[in-house]
Amino acid sequence: MFRKISHALLYSIAYFILEPRFMSDEWVIRKQTKDRLQKDLKKLYSAFDDAERLFSKLGRCKLCITHCCVGGFNRVTVFDRITHLVEGIKQPPKWGYRLYPLGSFMNPKRSHKRNCDFFTEGRGCSLSYYVRPAMCVWSGCSKIGKVLSREERNVYNRIKREVFEVHWSYALKLLFGGMTKKGEF
Ligand code: SF4
Ligand code: SF4
Repeated sequence: MFRKISHALLYSIAYFILEPRFMSDEWVIRKQTKDRLQKDLKKLYSAFDDAERLFSKLGRCKLCITHCCVGGFNRVTVFDRITHLVEGIKQPPKWGYRLYPLGSFMNPKRSHKRNCDFFTEGRGCSLSYYVRPAMCVWSGCSKIGKVLSREERNVYNRIKREVFEVHWSYALKLLFGGMTKKGEF
């Protein structure tokens, strides 16, 4: 219950405050905040490394037919934008950064008849784990849930927890003085 409330609060902050700031292109992350966010980035990448190891070991995703990459829409969120900014990745993904998948009213390319644009037949996701949307790193389907051993489930839950901790840390740093309007100090 607490986790659900925490996630709802985090997404509300992101959706109503952080994402509009980034989309307006009027706000920037302060230099000293970017330096502080590097620590979060290390923790995030360490969780991503663990996820890559876990999912590779399970070996289910490459064999998957009804996989979770179905649907021509964007999974890249404002949290990934923050990660990319701290990492220095300038090139935005094709559909930009949105907290929720773009609806058909905003993205005429959206379709459930095709896959996400980053999906490559026979290979899976074409993005490295470090660039991949966080939700594509930590989320797993019920098929995965069924094959996890107790130890693997602990690892899986820890990965999810760490990703959310990093996103909370991003949100708090940016909410409380970590951003400034362009031209202001
Ligand atoms: S997480 Fe599940 S649905 Fe997604 S690719 Fe892996 S096996 Fe398929
Ligand atoms: S970004 Fe990669 S993992 Fe995520 S939906 Fe697209 S192809 Fe799948």
